[in-house]
Amino acid sequence: MPELAPYAADPAQSRGRRHPEPPATPRTEFQRDRDRIVHSTAFRRLEYKTQVFINHEGDLFRTRLTHSLEVAQIGRTLARLLGLNEDLIETVALAHDLGHTPFGHTGQDALNECMKPHGGFEHNLQSLRVVDELEQRYADFEGLNLTFEAREGILKHCSPRNAGRLGELGARFLQGRQPSLEAQITNLADEIAYNNHDVDDGLRSGLIELAQLEEIALFRRHLDEVRARHPALAGRRLVNETVRRMINTLVVDLVEQTRANLAEHRPQNLEDVRLCPPLAAFSPGVRAAQLELKRFLFQNLYRHYRVVRMSEKAKRLIRALFEAFMATPALLPPEFQARAEADLPRAVADYIAGMTDRFAIREHRRIFDIEELA
Ligand code: MG
Repeated sequence: MPELAPYAADPAQSRGRRHPEPPATPRTEFQRDRDRIVHSTAFRRLEYKTQVFINHEGDLFRTRLTHSLEVAQIGRTLARLLGLNEDLIETVALAHDLGHTPFGHTGQDALNECMKPHGGFEHNLQSLRVVDELEQRYADFEGLNLTFEAREGILKHCSPRNAGRLGELGARFLQGRQPSLEAQITNLADEIAYNNHDVDDGLRSGLIELAQLEEIALFRRHLDEVRARHPALAGRRLVNETVRRMINTLVVDLVEQTRANLAEHRPQNLEDVRLCPPLAAFSPGVRAAQLELKRFLFQNLYRHYRVVRMSEKAKRLIRALFEAFMATPALLPPEFQARAEADLPRAVADYIAGMTDRFAIREHRRIFDIEELA
């Protein structure tokens, strides 16, 4: 592994785990965190959870799993270029979406609405809940007992009310402090990954067309470059050549701007990073170009009537499941009934959030379709 910068997170200096454990040797503490994520049940579920397109819409679209792997890939590249801890970035990347509901953002919004009177539902906080409590694998503790630094990276945002409940981990949201550079970088790697793969999936699905994307500066610049070099290229290869150049531009720009910010603020260690303004950043020009692309995707892909139709079905399904379990907790599987005794709405939300798309669809049938076996 290349040498770590002084401002990188050092596993030997970790703030530790909630339940003390013997050292992870021969691995580092962050390697152990990463490995625990890969072996978790929640990680395997990502394979059947929606990114934008529901699983049964096609085999080639991104799922939460392939999305998370792409974030990890981009994150690892950035880690090496910036002298950051690659294992920590990989951990946060692989874990960042563990709390996602079935059916993507629609699912999260629907569940949040159902949970409004009971403290709300936020997928980011749920990712933390998965690694802190919901995974049941180890004899001595609930959850995966990850290091503070991994948990800090997973918790990207948090309301003041929830931050107050989270003690040391929530403190930065109340004090206006930053997380590690590894956490900041993973967050931007996430953005690079989804903007680019949503362009790719959007074109593949036929919901958006190349001609529309030619109006978007960031895409157009790289498309022109490819056409100049390969005038005869068309179809998927033209799209791929454009997208890979966009990813490269974003990665290089992020590294350059972050290096400039580091040179300006000169953090000497991780504690300095936490006290500085956000150091990981795109240049203003590239940030604006990214935003233009993001807006385009929002209006033309996420709001496409065919995506909206599917989203509305998903919302109704989540609401129906929530109401059924709330009205009749005895419908819940036994392990969730035990949790429901302490807090019914939260147990229902945990159960629903853990479902894959196809499990939710099947569960809905089992509960509402009289001809289906229960
Ligand atoms: Mg993500």
